[in-house]
Amino acid sequence: MSVTIEAREVTKIFPVAKGIFSKKHYIRAVDRVSLGIRENEIVALVGESGCGKSTLGRLLLGLIKPTEGKILYMGKDIWSLKGREYEEFRRNAQLIPQDPYSALNPMKNILSQLTPPLLKYKIARNRKEAVKRAAELLELVGLVPPEDFFKRFTCRLSGGQLQRISIARAISVQPKFIVADEAVSMLDASLRIEILDILLNLQRKFKTAYLFITHDLAIARYFAREGRTAIMYLGNIVEIGETENVIQKPLHPYTQVLIQAVPVPDPDLAAKRGLPKLRSLEIPSLINPPPGCKFNTRCPYAEKICEEKVPELREVKGRLVACHLY
Ligand code: SF4
Repeated sequence: MSVTIEAREVTKIFPVAKGIFSKKHYIRAVDRVSLGIRENEIVALVGESGCGKSTLGRLLLGLIKPTEGKILYMGKDIWSLKGREYEEFRRNAQLIPQDPYSALNPMKNILSQLTPPLLKYKIARNRKEAVKRAAELLELVGLVPPEDFFKRFTCRLSGGQLQRISIARAISVQPKFIVADEAVSMLDASLRIEILDILLNLQRKFKTAYLFITHDLAIARYFAREGRTAIMYLGNIVEIGETENVIQKPLHPYTQVLIQAVPVPDPDLAAKRGLPKLRSLEIPSLINPPPGCKFNTRCPYAEKICEEKVPELREVKGRLVACHLY
């Protein structure tokens, strides 16, 4: 299967100023990350808040430019695309954000937010067809009867209904790639599975490639059960492999610690309670990260080499792991 979207050795550095007159600092939010997502593949990207997950998602969508490295869509550097090719990419790379309010216009009713992209990308030939297609989209995401939602504004919809509309909008243009960034984390637990199932059904129907960003390993395990899971720490992917392998037999010490912290009464995960604990709870600053392996200040297995040498991602037991233990 062909690779739909790929980050190749991508770094994103942001300047940060602590005060008007203080020296400018820089953070490497994403640090030499390579990741390819194939057609019809789901990759869950898991890590603590601030580890660079959302920045990587925005880089892959072309919403921000990499400082170094390339983002390739169907093999082409997205920052060299022009005219029709660029429009094609914009249509085919969509975001489902954490906060659906931010994706929708409170001044427009739902119908007038769904129809313009359908007309712009010629998915509908005229307004009548666009309205019909908008109704089908609302039905797909479980908002029935759709006509009841056409004239509503965002203030008259619940969080779950808004997230469904944000999904309907993202899929309306039949994209090849979707970044779902903490797409269910603002919803009640009871609604999460329902929304995840809608996304999974749509993914199977349209064969879309997904980057599913979450801080929650249990959600990643559910959503990417037939795909891969990547674990991110301070701007680096430290382990990536088939989801069940990564969760059942975590190799990187950080993945092991994350699994140790999952607060679910899952017998499979509970059996792993013998996994190690962090040496320190303090997350190092991205402005001045530890030398060598960035996890060395917290890792229960850290040795001298871990402070001296950056571990590269290497193939270990059918997956990629960045750790000197292997
Ligand atoms: Fe721990 Fe060293 Fe492996 Fe980093 S490289 S995860 S510090 S053992």
